[in-house]
Amino acid sequence: MTARPLIYAANWKMNLGPQDAAAFLDRFLELTAPQPDRSLWFFPPAVSLATVAHAVRPRPDILVGAQNVHWEPKGAFTGEISIPMAQEAGAEVVLIGHSERRHLFGETDDQVARKTAAVLKAGLRPLVCVGETLAEREGGRTEQVILRQLEPLLDKVASADWGRLVVAYEPVWAIGTGKNATPDDAAQVHELIRFALGRRGVSGRLPILYGGSVSAKNVLALLARPELDGVLVGGASLDPDGWAELVGLEAAP
Ligand code: PEP
Repeated sequence: MTARPLIYAANWKMNLGPQDAAAFLDRFLELTAPQPDRSLWFFPPAVSLATVAHAVRPRPDILVGAQNVHWEPKGAFTGEISIPMAQEAGAEVVLIGHSERRHLFGETDDQVARKTAAVLKAGLRPLVCVGETLAEREGGRTEQVILRQLEPLLDKVASADWGRLVVAYEPVWAIGTGKNATPDDAAQVHELIRFALGRRGVSGRLPILYGGSVSAKNVLALLARPELDGVLVGGASLDPDGWAELVGLEAAP
């Protein structure tokens, strides 16, 4: 039996400029080889996109993506990057609606949906993040928040396009805190996402990743749950040796 395909996505946030990114890739590529059914996605800062895309050219198992894009193809949007620009720099995937974008920069559910639709229209794959804050979880509102975040996506993305979308469940309270969701908690929300999409006619198995304080210590327990199709990782993806170890870990037979 072949293992299900897994995605290991590295979100570098505002770390690793072009020089550090090149050094990271030199080391990481030396330590790793492509593995069947496992793809590795890197989200470097925009200034390092071209460097990373160039470095991973010999590795078809590795995709490079932008951490954010604007939905318009060009215009007076100081500080933003467009989808065509990201594509020209080598991006094949785009991270959208990360909780830091939502909570620190005020990105709305509607903007997330507009970006997602634009990314799909351009032929790239969006990795869309959803997740509740601690107050929302403690207030029993996890389900309500996730459904609210999905709703504009369901309105703006045609059902035929959902096959190219990837969702990441990232509880905000678990990001960068060292406090990951338990495999059961994560699996429960992944099920909810699948159910909500299925109810609105999205068929097929769309990959759903878990993100939030994933490390080499907890990744196997999380991925032991069949509801999870991979992980989105911040802190533990910044060191080439540690990231190479994490993406290479195998569950005992
Ligand atoms: C993230 O940035 O998406 C993330 C999950 O960060 P960390 O792994 O550091 O919690």
